[in-house]
Amino acid sequence: MINQKAEMYEKIGISREVWEYGEHTAERLSSRFQQIDETAEYNQLKVIRAMQENRVSEACLYASSGYGYNDIGRDTLEKVYASAFSTEDALVRPQIACGTHALAVALSGNLRPGDELLSPVGKPYDTLEEVIGIRPSNGSLAEYGVSYRQVDLLPDGSFDYEGIRKAVNDKTKLVTIQRSKGYQTRPTLSVQRIGELIRFIKSIRPDLICMVDNCYGEFVEEQEPSEVGADLMVGSLIKNPGGGLAPIGGYIAGRREYVENAAYRLTSPGLGKEVGATLGVNQSFYQGFFLAPSVTAAALKGAVFAANIYERLGFPVLPDGKESRHDIIQAVTLGSPEAVIAFCRGIQAAAPVDSYVAPEPWAMPGYDSDVIMAAGAFVQGSSIELSADGPIKPPYAVYFQGGLTWAHAKLGILMSLQKLWEANLVVLP
Ligand SMILES: *Cc1c(COP(=O)(O)O)cnc(C)c1O
Repeated sequence: MINQKAEMYEKIGISREVWEYGEHTAERLSSRFQQIDETAEYNQLKVIRAMQENRVSEACLYASSGYGYNDIGRDTLEKVYASAFSTEDALVRPQIACGTHALAVALSGNLRPGDELLSPVGKPYDTLEEVIGIRPSNGSLAEYGVSYRQVDLLPDGSFDYEGIRKAVNDKTKLVTIQRSKGYQTRPTLSVQRIGELIRFIKSIRPDLICMVDNCYGEFVEEQEPSEVGADLMVGSLIKNPGGGLAPIGGYIAGRREYVENAAYRLTSPGLGKEVGATLGVNQSFYQGFFLAPSVTAAALKGAVFAANIYERLGFPVLPDGKESRHDIIQAVTLGSPEAVIAFCRGIQAAAPVDSYVAPEPWAMPGYDSDVIMAAGAFVQGSSIELSADGPIKPPYAVYFQGGLTWAHAKLGILMSLQKLWEANLVVLP
């Protein structure tokens, strides 16, 4: 049996040496994986219970067209999200193009000219810079008279409580808290830490709207930020909550008033949640949400495996092999352009789609260096599917995430190592 498996790995391109190193690494992770499975089990129940409570029926899976009035599938799905995330309401729509759009809709729906937006956790995700107007951009919040203030984390990664207290003023209306580190080196925030921050902010002014950018965080823990005081929680359906099946979409969940404000911005004042046909995506939204806890668990196992594989070979990894996890992203600092390219080619070579193409670094718009990306995904750009990208600049780090199944995530990481090994960029122990 073991030999048969090793032979199958050889047929797909993994040498015996790489496979054995992988097996030794995986053996040590069984208690870690058990914890991940426990969380997935809890979250699976949470989702099924939400579906049962809201009486999801076969009719919910059908398509609507045109205005989409009384789309029972859409309206019920929004109740399912609200139940699973313990919020008053939710907006879950294929008309939300991506995570950035969901965040832009939540912000612009709830901010008015003269209001100020505060980020107490440092610089937000790159694409948000243009939404907010940190980098001048057509249609930014800044152009509409919404100002922005930022308080960075302290050097040790803790919240600058004094700085936050000073930054809150009469104009402050909404506080945006990004859970995932994104492409920064700060640690990802745990739900518990987010709760502490929200309690502090509410102690300054209870009427401040606390919004959490929950991208990559859903179902990683047993609680979500909405359960520790967040008034709004926002994410993308081509990340965790879409379970790999949603072909598009985003969600905004939270207090009814704020979700409604977002809906008036997404569709139109007066129309709000009443319109928006689902064109047949309901089934994939439901089924994806149903699968999301176990898909997230597979991606997490991949991230933990990658951290341990590369840490043992002497590469700096973030988070490290033992740390607790609050999102699905893994950074590995490989130290040379050749290694970044080899790593990404390995991820690509392990994909079910486009495995035969070799990714090349290119000058992507919006980046200040060449970037290489690997993705052989069923849904274009989906980062809950196995994917990796790395800017070709020091310290030559790759960011790795996703994997719809643990077996595929494992293959991807072994294939990345295979490519490094073949190019003599690593020595196996
Ligand atoms: C992915 C991501 C976004 C933006 O989502 P897109 O779907 O790429 O527009 C925003 N914030 C964080 C933390 C993310 O990970």
